[in-house]
Amino acid sequence: MVRVRFAPSPTGPLHIGGARSALFNYLFARKNNGVFIVRIEDTDLERSSRESEKNILESLKWLGITWDEGIEVGGENGPYRQTERLNLYQKYARKLIEEGFAYYCFCTEEELEEERKNLLAKGEMPRYLGKCRNLTPAEKEKYLAEGRKPTVRFKVPAGRTIVINDLVRGVVTFETDGIGDFIIVKSDGIPTYNFAVVIDDVTMGITHVLRGEEHLSNTPRQILIYEALGFKIPEFAHISLILGKDRTKMSKRHGATSVENYREKGYLPEALVNFLALLGWSPGTEEEIFTMEQLIERFSLDRVAKNPAIFDLDKLNWINGYYIRNSELSRIVELSLPYFQSCGYVSNNPTDEEMRKLTKVVEATREYVVTLSELPEHAAIFYQKELIFEEEAKTFLAEEETRNILRKIADKIKEIPGFEEEEIKGFLKKLPKELGVGGKKVYMPLRAALTGKTHGPELYQVMAILGPEEAERRIKNLFN
Ligand code: GLU
Repeated sequence: MVRVRFAPSPTGPLHIGGARSALFNYLFARKNNGVFIVRIEDTDLERSSRESEKNILESLKWLGITWDEGIEVGGENGPYRQTERLNLYQKYARKLIEEGFAYYCFCTEEELEEERKNLLAKGEMPRYLGKCRNLTPAEKEKYLAEGRKPTVRFKVPAGRTIVINDLVRGVVTFETDGIGDFIIVKSDGIPTYNFAVVIDDVTMGITHVLRGEEHLSNTPRQILIYEALGFKIPEFAHISLILGKDRTKMSKRHGATSVENYREKGYLPEALVNFLALLGWSPGTEEEIFTMEQLIERFSLDRVAKNPAIFDLDKLNWINGYYIRNSELSRIVELSLPYFQSCGYVSNNPTDEEMRKLTKVVEATREYVVTLSELPEHAAIFYQKELIFEEEAKTFLAEEETRNILRKIADKIKEIPGFEEEEIKGFLKKLPKELGVGGKKVYMPLRAALTGKTHGPELYQVMAILGPEEAERRIKNLFN
């Protein structure tokens, strides 16, 4: 049975990279009828917060990534927050010490810094050289009497090559000689990441560790701990870093980095999921639009690329626009509502009338946007009391001939029966003939008069949304 996990550190909002790791784990679990666990790595006491934890979990849920076991939902292997599992780590740390795989280290910050500097000066990799490996009981007593609080270090065996058969990266090897004895429990009794993650993965029966490439160099340390404790080593799959278009590591400079930011800007969760899936995974075809169900069906690790994924905002925008245009209209209306409310176009407790208008407005404008937050800007023409005329629109309205034509149109508007889109379409079609002029003299000026612009939604849509009185008023306004 496949068991995978997402183990975020709650030190900030859920980032794009984390969301992608979560998604790949989720897809892999679902595809293989496995179990997906979400647990919290909160051992960085200073930087972790419940607020970040909440943000991360909310963002996952918003994306439609649900978990079978873990934080909030519970399960047999809890608790699922590392700070609530300290006894467990202590138990295994003691075992490692008793069996000679780990030892207490009493070195002070100053001593460690000194060692680091000396190694650097000799051109060597800074690492801990094992000074406290063989302390006598008397030495230990002395340090304890001085009030020193020891850390626990793992004894890294010399001269070994650790081989990782990574499911994405292939065979990767590390020499243990480059790894100094590393701390597994800090002097305050809190375990370090490399130690706690192994204990969690083992006790939760994790079969596949899918995570970001930045953790590849931690893997040999973790493998040494698995070996020392006699645990079965899981499979590893390290997913490539996400780079900006300039091929440097994705950061704030490249735009929004948290899922929350994208949500606020009006990206749809299914668009973000679709986009994230393609950041490193490829279907092997040219297809680009995938629902979560289709991703589950198609996902496999052997189609996850080794080379870095490039974050292409244009592509995300394209995908988001696609979903805005093609999703159920009522859903897009519902999701757009807050944006219309925050700019005052729709009241906080919208009436049925307001919602009917909003539905028509969204239908007419969703073609033109890539995010929901852009909708009000395109919809302004339907809500502004005073139109703002673009220069080009003004030139259309300046000619005497067009003004005469517009006057005539204004008087005819009332005659349109029902004022539904179909009737308006028919009316507009016949208009040039009735007025005895070319279409050019009719449509652009009319659009300019009604919207102040020379482009935008279809004229019949514009008129249907405005209604006959408002359409007439806008035209007549030009002559006052
Ligand atoms: N807390 C780690 C992170 O957020 C998890 C690493 C892992 O998955 O092993 O990067």
